[in-house]
Amino acid sequence: MKELLHSADFCVIGGGLSGVCAAVAAARHGVKVVLMQDRPMLGGNASSEIRMWVCGANDRDHDYREAGILEEIELENYYRNPTLCYQIWDTVIYEKVMLEENITLLLNCTCQSCEMDGNVIKSVRGWQMTSETYHTVEAKYFADCSGDSILAPLTGAAFRVGREARDEFGESIAPEKADKCTMGLSCMFQIRETDRKQTFVPPEWAYSFPRDEDMPDREHNIGTNYWWIEVGGDRDSIHDTDELRHELLKISYGVWDHCKNHGHPEYDNWVMDWIGFLPGKRESRRYVGDYILTENDVLSGGHFDDIVAYGGWTMDDHFPAGFYYRGGYPTIHHYAPVPWGIPWRALYSENIDNLLFAGRNISATHTAMSSSRVMGTCAIVGQAVGTGVSVILKDGKKPREADVNEIQQTLMYDDCLIPYVDRRLTDLTLKAKTNAEITRNGVDRAFGETQNCWTGQKGDYLEYSFDSPDYVRELRIVFDSNFHRPYHNMPSNYPLNEKKYKLPDTIVKSYSVEITDSSGNRSVIRVDNNRRRLATHRIESDVLSVRIIPSETWGNGQLRVFSVDLK
Ligand SMILES: Cc1cc2nc3c(=O)[nH]c(=O)nc-3n(C[C@H](O)[C@H](O)[C@H](O)COP(=O)(O)OP(=O)(O)OC[C@H]3O[C@@H](n4cnc5c(N)ncnc54)[C@H](O)[C@@H]3O)c2cc1C
Repeated sequence: MKELLHSADFCVIGGGLSGVCAAVAAARHGVKVVLMQDRPMLGGNASSEIRMWVCGANDRDHDYREAGILEEIELENYYRNPTLCYQIWDTVIYEKVMLEENITLLLNCTCQSCEMDGNVIKSVRGWQMTSETYHTVEAKYFADCSGDSILAPLTGAAFRVGREARDEFGESIAPEKADKCTMGLSCMFQIRETDRKQTFVPPEWAYSFPRDEDMPDREHNIGTNYWWIEVGGDRDSIHDTDELRHELLKISYGVWDHCKNHGHPEYDNWVMDWIGFLPGKRESRRYVGDYILTENDVLSGGHFDDIVAYGGWTMDDHFPAGFYYRGGYPTIHHYAPVPWGIPWRALYSENIDNLLFAGRNISATHTAMSSSRVMGTCAIVGQAVGTGVSVILKDGKKPREADVNEIQQTLMYDDCLIPYVDRRLTDLTLKAKTNAEITRNGVDRAFGETQNCWTGQKGDYLEYSFDSPDYVRELRIVFDSNFHRPYHNMPSNYPLNEKKYKLPDTIVKSYSVEITDSSGNRSVIRVDNNRRRLATHRIESDVLSVRIIPSETWGNGQLRVFSVDLK
């Protein structure tokens, strides 16, 4: 078989949203990255193979919408994918990685083994099915974003499976006794409305649920995504996956048969558009880091000194029996505050020196994980891990030796909110004279009625000037992408007269930046068709003044800018 060797600074295993954001964040800070993903596309449970919509703190309080790389991906998707086609969504995620010069992407490549030197991972090895090639990746740091924590059994990293006993961490919602139960797996399906009546013939091997009482407490109105078609929480959610797939398909087809053929005329014109053959996983191995997050950390808001990300979804703890649970609704949404903080110490292994992780496998108890597992949270945790690696790589430090303050400040500069931590402005930003003071209050989003935002009309501009020329390397601008936009970025079903999705109209579409240098010469950067919330521009010159002239939005009458920074 063919063998290829790659040398990198950082190897990321798993290309769900956590792995993608980890890889992109690190690469943008100059880190050489290899991203190994075992599927043909990126996105994990958000991809066209599984089709879950991205949830997070945003769903409960829009002011806390997860931003950073995730927001960049979602905005690009609105622009390019107004009918919200899943393959285009896959492509948008794919190109975010492909177009990053510092990333080598290995798709269809399954990490299978690794080489260790004591507590240090030297390399991992993956089999790429499409090219019959073994890829060995040597790197200084590794992040396991595989969901299932494949590097745990391969490296001997400490991990946990199942539910902790209530008294182990004093968690009120944990079961009295510890067990190996997890949340289950699902094969999702999607439906599409047509303009006429449509029939449906189920496979003969599908289950039959002729009465509503055959699936009690399972909402099956148009608009649900049938998340409750779930089994395997009381099995081995890794090794039984392929057996569970057939059971899930039998249930999914049976549920659709129920909707189509057993007393639900509202579904007459609807057809099954897609069904997933790859079970989506909610829970399996969770790593043990220097800190294990618990229900009590979630409830108290996670005020950690080393906070680098946050959650905000409820502790959404599905019953292990899933579809077969007969005690009522199959999950409990236990209260969690928005936001609650996630510390750096929960993102690296307690016993493997160069192993980090992001996604549903971070160091958390089952109950804390029932909140942190949603993909908005996974994405910003991924960005934190990738950014953290770029910080520790400079001095070759171990993750536990990281300068967390630098990670926090870098993340905030890159448009990630870090609750309870103030964003530090550069000396240059503070030194400039400006007609837009609000843009340097260090807050890049609205909170409640407090807009934290410069507003203007066509012809208005924001100016930053110095008494004597100063060297400016980079200009950073944060526009408004309307965190209160009322829809998910990808749907669960497709009504006939589906509303067209579009970029939030508040984003500044066109703007120019006029730079006056030390000799009084003026240069202009002109940007049209902008769909980013965070824009950065290399300036690299001695500057007397920078003037930003927003001229047009994607439809909103007001021009809105949260922040401008110079460094
Ligand atoms: C049915 C279902 C419904 C859900 N509903 C929602 C929801 O509505 N909103 C929400 O935000 N979250 C939801 N979740 C939770 C969420 O999808 C997961 O917690 C989240 O996707 C975990 O992110 P991740 O990046 O850790 O893993 P994943 O998204 O699973 O990505 C990991 C990737 O790593 C790859 N991989 C695995 N092993 C290897 C290997 N050995 N080598 C290389 N690559 C590997 C996998 O193929 C996968 O693509 C749901 C989950 C399920 C299953």
